[in-house]
Amino acid sequence: MLNALQPGLGLRVNAVSQATGKGKHTTTHQEMFLLQPEFSNAETGAAAGAIVDTPGVREFGLWEVTPDDLALFFPEMRPLLGRCRFGLDCGHDEEPGCAIRKAVMDGQISPRRYQSYLRLKEEL
Ligand SMILES: [Zn+2]
Repeated sequence: MLNALQPGLGLRVNAVSQATGKGKHTTTHQEMFLLQPEFSNAETGAAAGAIVDTPGVREFGLWEVTPDDLALFFPEMRPLLGRCRFGLDCGHDEEPGCAIRKAVMDGQISPRRYQSYLRLKEEL
């Protein structure tokens, strides 16, 4: 899948098992690749990001990120931080006068991204 997403990675692939009809574990180490610039957000100019190829890991966690810092990792939210009624104390959830929730309602921030933010914050 990563090879199809970004030709040129040249990641090793393996044939599907004839016995089970399932893919075989082929990735043997974890590696992060920066996405090519054409994957960046044309509207916001947000960086394309990165993808991680990893062997047999089904779950990822965020390390050394606190719930208070999480919004910093959403480039579209960054310019609004500190503009909520409760300033930097806002959790961008139920608080009145939240600039981020307003931006979601105004269509400036994708509701999917906002839901993702809330889900990650819950996990943290
Ligand atoms: Zn807020």
